[in-house]
Amino acid sequence: IKEEKYDFRRVLKRLPGEVYSLLNVIRREADKHDVRVYLVGGMVRDLILGLENNDLDFMVEGNIKYYLRALSRTFEENYTYNDKFKTGRIRLNSGYNLDFAVARSEVYTSPGALPEVETGEIVEDLFRRDFTVNALAIGVDSQNWGTLIDFFGGIHDIEHKKLRVLHRFSFLDDPTRIIRGLRLALRLGFSFQDKTNLLMKEALKFGNFKRISKPRIIKEFSLLFSKKMDRRITGLLKQFPIFHLLDLDPRVDESKFSIIKRAECILDYFRQKNYNIKEWLIRMVVLLDGVEEKKLANWGLNRGEREILTFPSVIDTIIDKLRTNSTPLKLKKLLEGFTLEQILLLLIYTEGKERKQVYKYINYLSKVDLKINGHDLIELGLKPGPVIKEVLDKVWEAKVDNGLKTREEELRFARKIIGDKLK
Ligand code: ATP
Repeated sequence: IKEEKYDFRRVLKRLPGEVYSLLNVIRREADKHDVRVYLVGGMVRDLILGLENNDLDFMVEGNIKYYLRALSRTFEENYTYNDKFKTGRIRLNSGYNLDFAVARSEVYTSPGALPEVETGEIVEDLFRRDFTVNALAIGVDSQNWGTLIDFFGGIHDIEHKKLRVLHRFSFLDDPTRIIRGLRLALRLGFSFQDKTNLLMKEALKFGNFKRISKPRIIKEFSLLFSKKMDRRITGLLKQFPIFHLLDLDPRVDESKFSIIKRAECILDYFRQKNYNIKEWLIRMVVLLDGVEEKKLANWGLNRGEREILTFPSVIDTIIDKLRTNSTPLKLKKLLEGFTLEQILLLLIYTEGKERKQVYKYINYLSKVDLKINGHDLIELGLKPGPVIKEVLDKVWEAKVDNGLKTREEELRFARKIIGDKLK
């Protein structure tokens, strides 16, 4: 049936001109170097679904190193190559990422560890992928141009909008696949095939995740939470408690969804303002709300990220201070050391008067910068010392109150204060 329905030579022709011509370059070079090349993974799935994808993964049978070098010359772009893993990448100026790997059969030394690579057959490679919809390949060398390889019923599953795992140990071999599954379900609007659903739940209940690489788990979490969340997320998290992979069990209920909604509104607002925010981390913090701080381990996060993750534990103290810090200067001093992510979290967890204060800071006070500095004050006759900061603060306050606009106005005001001080 599928051959009639999907003539992949025609499917390839439907690709945007740019992609079609780059596939033809891949094909010509493959023929020249006598290697077999297949387009694999997410791009094949998205091609069938008519979705855009700029990441093209290729599987190469033959000498990948020489092939890659020749290809990069033809594209006139640099390439990177990892001899140990036999993988390479060419980033095209046009925005497409081309990833190449030899067909691999992975030997798992421990669950969740990085795979060791051996050269193997294409079927073995595809068998080691996460879901059937990602285990499709299309030949792109002349010998196999447009030939679909579908060993595991991926086309059938795409048609039925199902995510099906390839074998029953898959999630135990690599539990990050559970998080990937949730991401795919949300992105594609697919659901899990019954058996897969059961295997995911079983793995989360009985799996031993002690030896998993936590940074790999966090990487998948960051991808899962990089997109706007809707109501489906709480349902999925209730069914599949993926935070078990980090040894956490946060409560997921309706009240949590209302905080997520609130967070999404504020994230929209920050996005409109072009603020560069680690959105995934905000969503993670909100979902982990209520978990004891000592349970939040390092997980390979950098210091800044960790400070954001543990920020809720100090929010109450800050809210108290917001209640009592009434002048703009005090407000500035309270908030100026925080990152945008921390300010955003404050907006999520405050309301009423306190929230207004935070908005006032982010939209106005944080942007009031003086055009003069300490050196100017020293030139005006002030001695170096704490008094410099004192005067600058006074000028700043005056600027907020009466809108001193120019540098001259600031200097004039500073001169006046210094005059009073020197009297
Ligand atoms: P897409 O599937 O759209 O490419 P992605 O960006 O998550 O999404 P990559 O991480 O680049 O994809 O992985 C490319 C392909 O490699 C996937 O389509 C999947 O077939 C396979 N893959 C990635 N991670 C795993 C994993 N942990 N276990 C098995 N297969 C995986």
